[in-house]
Amino acid sequence: MQIGILGGGRVGVSLARRWTAAGHDVTISTRDTIAETAADKDVVLLAVPAAAVGEVLAAAGALEGTVVIDATNNLSGGPDGAAIAAMASRAHVVKAFNTVGNTFISGPIQVLNYSYFDKEFPETFRTAMQIRESIEKHGWKKVVAFQTRNPMHRAHEELVRMAMDREKADGAVIHMLLGKLKPGDIPADVRDAAIRKMVELYFPPNTVEITGYGFDMLYAGPREAVLHAVFRQNMGATHLIVGRDHAGVGSYYGPFDAHHIFDEIPEDSLETRPLKIDWTFWCYKCGGMASARTCPHDDADRLLVSGTKLRKWLSEGAEVPAEFSRPEVLAILREYYEGLAAHERVEVKLSGHSAR
Ligand SMILES: [Zn+2]
Repeated sequence: MQIGILGGGRVGVSLARRWTAAGHDVTISTRDTIAETAADKDVVLLAVPAAAVGEVLAAAGALEGTVVIDATNNLSGGPDGAAIAAMASRAHVVKAFNTVGNTFISGPIQVLNYSYFDKEFPETFRTAMQIRESIEKHGWKKVVAFQTRNPMHRAHEELVRMAMDREKADGAVIHMLLGKLKPGDIPADVRDAAIRKMVELYFPPNTVEITGYGFDMLYAGPREAVLHAVFRQNMGATHLIVGRDHAGVGSYYGPFDAHHIFDEIPEDSLETRPLKIDWTFWCYKCGGMASARTCPHDDADRLLVSGTKLRKWLSEGAEVPAEFSRPEVLAILREYYEGLAAHERVEVKLSGHSAR
């Protein structure tokens, strides 16, 4: 493709490098070569200060039918995107690479409300400051946080236990996402009840806090893992458990992308440390819960339950192995599941990260 770049600044030069590497024929203008750089091109990139756009477009000619990519911003004055599109009315103007507005707001933040979260989940919803206070009240110094959007089966329970053990943590905060999920995921109140029951029966008293926060899943994989770590830093957790394919969807991200990203961000940019743990499962040969890091056996020796299979078992009232999920947790899920109309049941997913 023939590409003419108007403006030899950082944006113009960076894009010229990339486009040349991608095999395009790229020309960058100087002050004196605007007309010839813009002439007979498939695409013209506008990468000059906005204040200079009028002058540069006048020198560039009509640009009849040319695709013009407007990468300018008018932070220090000049026309905005709409005005530039009007100025180059015979071209096809596309705004890209720079869509920042020229208005920024700053000042103290006042929270007007917590949306529906504090009303619908009064026992579970906590602000970051409230969680900090309760961590302080417990006297916990090392705190691992577990992000979850699912009921906790034994694999999830094991992740928390493993993380607490590994870090010799004083406590754990199970931090549930109370916002929107994928259609068919288990609703927050059922998940909440199942998690509370599991903690009550299988963790020592006063070692686990069950809380939730108002946020929707973004399924942004590794980037969301970093965002999740920032949330946990704000609420005072020293560690965040990052399992396999954290905040992933389908097989869109690599299984360990959310682990690697913590090695790519600048060191010390986060106080909360990631606890990178591979998936966990029951292994018959190991004779207990194991992780992919420590168990040498293969899938045939491991208890692997797909979401579909679990759904089938629950809807048919069949036994689910106690090695997969605690019976008390299953009872809560079963009750929810039996209350659903037949057509809704098909939609429900009970997947955990151990459910493959
Ligand atoms: Zn094993």
